[in-house]
Amino acid sequence: MTIAEPRMDRMVASVEHVFSWFMSGDWEKHHLDPGVADFTFGNPQELPLPGLVDALRSNAIPRDKDWFAYKMSEEEPRNIVAASLHERTGIEYRPEDIAMTAGAFGALGVTIRALADEGDEVIFLSPPWFFYELMIASAGATAVRVRLEPPDFDLDPDAIAAAITPRTRAVLVNSPHNPTGRIYGEPELRALGDVLRSASERSGRPITLLSDESYNRILFDGVDFRTPALDYDATITIYTYGKTTLAPGQRIGYAAMHPDYPDRVAVGYRVFVQQLAAGWGFPNALLQHAISDIERVSIDIDALQARRDRMVPALREMGYEVTNPQGTFYLMARSPDPDDLVFSSRLAELGALVLPGAIVELPGWFRISLTASDQMVEDGLRAFREARLSAS
Ligand code: PMP
Repeated sequence: MTIAEPRMDRMVASVEHVFSWFMSGDWEKHHLDPGVADFTFGNPQELPLPGLVDALRSNAIPRDKDWFAYKMSEEEPRNIVAASLHERTGIEYRPEDIAMTAGAFGALGVTIRALADEGDEVIFLSPPWFFYELMIASAGATAVRVRLEPPDFDLDPDAIAAAITPRTRAVLVNSPHNPTGRIYGEPELRALGDVLRSASERSGRPITLLSDESYNRILFDGVDFRTPALDYDATITIYTYGKTTLAPGQRIGYAAMHPDYPDRVAVGYRVFVQQLAAGWGFPNALLQHAISDIERVSIDIDALQARRDRMVPALREMGYEVTNPQGTFYLMARSPDPDDLVFSSRLAELGALVLPGAIVELPGWFRISLTASDQMVEDGLRAFREARLSAS
């Protein structure tokens, strides 16, 4: 007889819809088909960036005996991250308040588990990134959803206020937002800061804003990104280098606590203990050595934007309702068939692979990743046209 912990059951249940589709759905069946146009994930379709390869190669050569010794959040990467954040936000982060992690995944896991426990609640916005609920469940806490409503998917501080209870420990906000491509502006971020400040005062303990800024350098049309940390001190910024490098298998990122975060030393220590408990949840030595070079590496954002500008009008002209992302890798399209799983399978038969909206809590839609190649965009558009015609 196996005795399953309720926490583990909740963790398994939270990813059921993702992995049942991932392991036997259209992507698994077709992603290796010759000539397939794969828009499913933010994965590379071409060889890695030469700048990244050079950074890894040159930093692989040891310069002292400790080059590959155990590494935690090392001094040099912390200094580089603090300087980069300062340049981008004007906020003077302390290097010691930065936890170096295995990407945003690692940063989310350790911060959520450091902040929330059994009986606590963590709010997140839906449609979400696939694994927020898993991370919250892994802390034993309860995940509370606040919906973002189409067609604009605006941040709604009043809806967040209504979801806060005395048990709320954190609110997870993702801007630029996967999958809608929205970037939240100053008015709504200020309003969110006000909501969180007054709720924290009421409950007598701070509610942390976990700001998932994984895509904060993937911006279109010269738009400015505003970090929510400017409008609320109790913010922890979560970041991964896996987006600008388009090499998410080389895992480095961080969790950075605002310099005026209440109780920063105690919470920082809890994050550190969670990193140990996660099974040494620090980035590998090589990536930490390479970070000043990795900071400067970036995929061609103009090329992503050009693919957006090719696809959005073409899809609209075919009669699809689509978002016009301000950033991230993704656009969302409304499925002409209310069953997005059925429509995605039809697209797969025609040679285009997309992520059904059901996987990201947005049934009736599907997600297109702009990390596809230009050739895939052209081939894919033919499939989208044919599928649209046969649906109407
Ligand atoms: N947050 C969001 C919003 C993401 O889209 C992703 C990756 N798709 C992550 C976190 C995790 O990033 P990484 O795998 O680089 O840690």
